[in-house]
Amino acid sequence: MAKVMILGGGFGGLAAAHELRRRLDTEHEITLVADDDRFFVGYAKVWDLVGTRPLAQGTRPLGALDAQGIGFVNARIAAIDPAQRAVETSAGSFAADYMVVALGAAGDTEKLGAAGRGAHDLYDPDRLPAMRSELEHLDSGRVVVAVLGMPYVCPPAPYEAAFLVEERLRRLGRGDRTEVVVTTPMPSPLPMAGPEVNDLVADGLAGQGIDLRTGLALSRIDHESRLASFADGTTLDYTLLLAIPGAVPPEVIANSPLAGEDGWIWPDPETGRTAFDGVYAVGDCTAVENLPRAGVFAEALGRAAGSSIAAEIDGGGSTAYDGSGYCFLEFDGQRAAALEGEFFAQPKPRLRMAEPDAATYARKEAFEAERLREWLGS
Ligand SMILES: Cc1cc2nc3c(=O)[nH]c(=O)nc-3n(C[C@H](O)[C@H](O)[C@H](O)COP(=O)(O)OP(=O)(O)OC[C@H]3O[C@@H](n4cnc5c(N)ncnc54)[C@H](O)[C@@H]3O)c2cc1C
Repeated sequence: MAKVMILGGGFGGLAAAHELRRRLDTEHEITLVADDDRFFVGYAKVWDLVGTRPLAQGTRPLGALDAQGIGFVNARIAAIDPAQRAVETSAGSFAADYMVVALGAAGDTEKLGAAGRGAHDLYDPDRLPAMRSELEHLDSGRVVVAVLGMPYVCPPAPYEAAFLVEERLRRLGRGDRTEVVVTTPMPSPLPMAGPEVNDLVADGLAGQGIDLRTGLALSRIDHESRLASFADGTTLDYTLLLAIPGAVPPEVIANSPLAGEDGWIWPDPETGRTAFDGVYAVGDCTAVENLPRAGVFAEALGRAAGSSIAAEIDGGGSTAYDGSGYCFLEFDGQRAAALEGEFFAQPKPRLRMAEPDAATYARKEAFEAERLREWLGS
């Protein structure tokens, strides 16, 4: 009998756990450890913010894994020993024959300071009630959607948030009294994607009257006067500021022998294998050249890692990850586009994005429904 331990219950962890369960006999034990006892897709947060649908409606308990033959331990991991494939957690110590590390990325909110009225971490689900309430009561003024640092999780998310916030304000009848600005330190919205895709995004934003400011590195937020200052001397006053934090390695990863010099884990891009025997790493806690931090990629590498471990255990075949994938970018009017292609292509990723449409929006809805059903049973 083999024991497999999955650290993290997000896209990467759930995909790995299910691939293993699908492949292995029930005598082999699969246990998932996570400090959050629920799962939802990232974009459900923006849907909650703009009133499309409450977050709770797209949230499922990880306890549902038990019914699918995957043990769930709700505990905080304090330390990882990859040589022993062991962890110390708030619920005790655990060890296994194989381990998949899928603990996601942490957010660097230092520039945001203590979030208070008017300025929030857009990615923090606990801030959603406050953000939603402020957006609903915003009668006039400026909403700034600001990328705080690079890299960040889900490159299209700031533009998606800008489209949906602008649409919400327009529907509330305040479109002519409010302004939406989106800022990024990068020279274009999605630099990796090439000029055609960037024109499509920039034209879409301009078409909705959203002010796209590139090359703006936020340096300071003055909560008292509601003023955002940027490295080049630009200042923007705001009524509501929605910040996208830069992604940083979680402390438990950065402090472990798994981390490279930059604090991220650098696994084999096709299997998730690390330098430690039986230890794999996938998703936002890893750095893979040319791969954005997004759920689809965490899932794809999670599946490949699961298949590779299953092959080691049962001697069957395994499927490596080929670097293909897509990220949704929702526009206004229930339309979405998908940035898709071959992210491992040489000499650079081959990416494309068609005009946004209702069919891709339906694909985005189905993406969530399929994962909630397949991974957590409803
Ligand atoms: C607004 C928004 C929109 C997005 N839209 C998309 C999209 O359209 N398409 C897409 O593919 N991606 C999208 N994403 C990105 C996507 O959500 C992430 O890339 C994805 O969740 C990463 O998966 P992961 O498994 O690596 O990590 P996560 O999903 O972050 O999971 C990490 C897991 O580890 C657990 N954990 C962390 N630290 C500890 C610890 N110390 N002890 C115990 N457990 C711990 C957490 O509880 C969690 O279960 C979006 C994200 C946001 C915020």
